[in-house]
Amino acid sequence: MRLPVRLPRPALPLRPATLYLLLTYLALSAMPFFPLLLGLPVTRPLQVLGVEAMAWIAAWALFKRPAWFHPLLLPAFLALPVELYLYTYYGQGISTHHLGIMAETSPIEAMEFLGSKAWLLAAVLLGVLAWWGSSWRVAFHTRALDWRDGSRWVVLGVLGLALALFVYEKQVGVAPQAKPAAASAARVHLVAATASASAWSAPRLPGWARLPVELDGFARSWPFGLMARGVDFYKERQYLADLNRRSAAFRFDARQGDPANAPDVLVMVLGESARYDRWSINGYARETNPLLAQEANLVPLQDLITSVSATRLSVPVIISRKPAMQSLKDGFTEKSFLTAYKEAGYKTYWLSNQISFGKFDTPVSVFAKEADTVEFLNLGGFTTRSNLDEVLFAPLARALQDPAPKKLIVLHTLGSHWNYAHRYPARFDKWTPSLRGVDKPVVTDDAIEPLMSNSYDNSILYTDWFLSQVLERLKASEKVAALMYVADHGQTLYDKSCDLAFHGHNTQYEFHVPAFVWYSDSYGALFPAKVARLKQHRKARLSTENVFHTLVDLGDIRYPGERLEWSIASAQWKRHKRYVDSYGWTDYDNARMRGDCREVIDKGTPLPRR
Ligand SMILES: [Zn+2]
Repeated sequence: MRLPVRLPRPALPLRPATLYLLLTYLALSAMPFFPLLLGLPVTRPLQVLGVEAMAWIAAWALFKRPAWFHPLLLPAFLALPVELYLYTYYGQGISTHHLGIMAETSPIEAMEFLGSKAWLLAAVLLGVLAWWGSSWRVAFHTRALDWRDGSRWVVLGVLGLALALFVYEKQVGVAPQAKPAAASAARVHLVAATASASAWSAPRLPGWARLPVELDGFARSWPFGLMARGVDFYKERQYLADLNRRSAAFRFDARQGDPANAPDVLVMVLGESARYDRWSINGYARETNPLLAQEANLVPLQDLITSVSATRLSVPVIISRKPAMQSLKDGFTEKSFLTAYKEAGYKTYWLSNQISFGKFDTPVSVFAKEADTVEFLNLGGFTTRSNLDEVLFAPLARALQDPAPKKLIVLHTLGSHWNYAHRYPARFDKWTPSLRGVDKPVVTDDAIEPLMSNSYDNSILYTDWFLSQVLERLKASEKVAALMYVADHGQTLYDKSCDLAFHGHNTQYEFHVPAFVWYSDSYGALFPAKVARLKQHRKARLSTENVFHTLVDLGDIRYPGERLEWSIASAQWKRHKRYVDSYGWTDYDNARMRGDCREVIDKGTPLPRR
């Protein structure tokens, strides 16, 4: 019996033009394997190959000849040089984060950022367009690659069936919401690892009938997988827009207490992964704060905790009135202190060395956008090579020189985020052997612990220099100024027998964060009572929930319904219950610290997560 299935007859010998077209498609498809040339790993390469083959067959079957699908490949041609650049310099490909930067950057800003490289970019762009155009021309003129025989209809039939299954899975297979993760969910090593938790939940469709392709695998394939990244980006945008809509109408009705005697500049520095006990001003044996230790007007806060140990969950609690026990839920209906300051007549800045857009920090960027000036300066990721925090000095200088009389400036740093060795320049590599020069540290290997620890301390040493540089700039501006620093969470570092590292756990090392307030001499003269209260409360039991109220109070900003009992700079300050996310909401002040990980264990029963 003759089967109607026959592969398209190869038109041999290939003419050079046809070969050019096929090599072009091969080059686009090879992009996911480019990291191998740089010695970087490629996740599930066979899956990527398989997905690519299926996508090519599907496109060819649908359109019959390359001339008709070639125009759709334009985004891939344009993305190719960008992807090559990002992999070479940042060790990662285009993400929704990068698409976000492109969408959020005006052409003028882009030109400023690119500088003289703009010409190079223009040349690359022209070259890519010429490549795309010339290969399209070939696609038009060649008929050797047409898929003419009956096998095309068989493939189309299979595609139709796959589409039907897909729609069925989407419509019928509405899986019930997964239950909130049990307490053991806290035991996640890299927070980044949790991101891959699939949103592709199993439907009622029998398991065997499911399509063998995961969206994630498709998104990593080239060139057609770029579409999936576009969809991901669109969803992220929708989510952001929704959060924005909900808080758009919110107002504090804030005003300056005494406009004639107001502070000029308030700076809020958001630290990253900084651990309280690794700061020498907090008693660490290694001198990690040689510069901050010399600051006369610096008030370290000795007992301030965060309730959660992930940036995207903890920062909203720091900068808004979002209650700590709501921190596990995304979004909040109020605005941040940026808006309170704006209403009181301050020009506001959000200057960030963190990534602007992506799964980790969307709840943060929603608040950041309240600022008059928003600058995200980091094109890298968290775990890969990226800019050092000193990249913030230039925009800080511009903000300080701005003619606006009163300013609030937020500096969101990358601090001591893994990989620590990428957070400081060579001259800060004081404690060795460190992770500097270790190309691909095996983070699960215990032997790495001393290197990790040394590099971590070096990153704190760099933070010390960074912060003292910011203070020097404030002093030089001769403004009435105050600065508050608080880290978003700490870090566990395979301490003794503890088998945990990084953050996202329930350890005291991650909940207890370094924090301090600094004030200029002129600020001290203008607001002696606030400074006296700060000093009085330096050992008080505080949490990141105190930060919003304290920062607004330091600016002498008043608003209806203000809660001065939450401000450390107020005589009305009162202790509040401090809960941390550890097997439910654990009362931090009625807990014991278990084992070398110093897991925070409630002596009573933790409150359930809502
Ligand atoms: Zn963080």
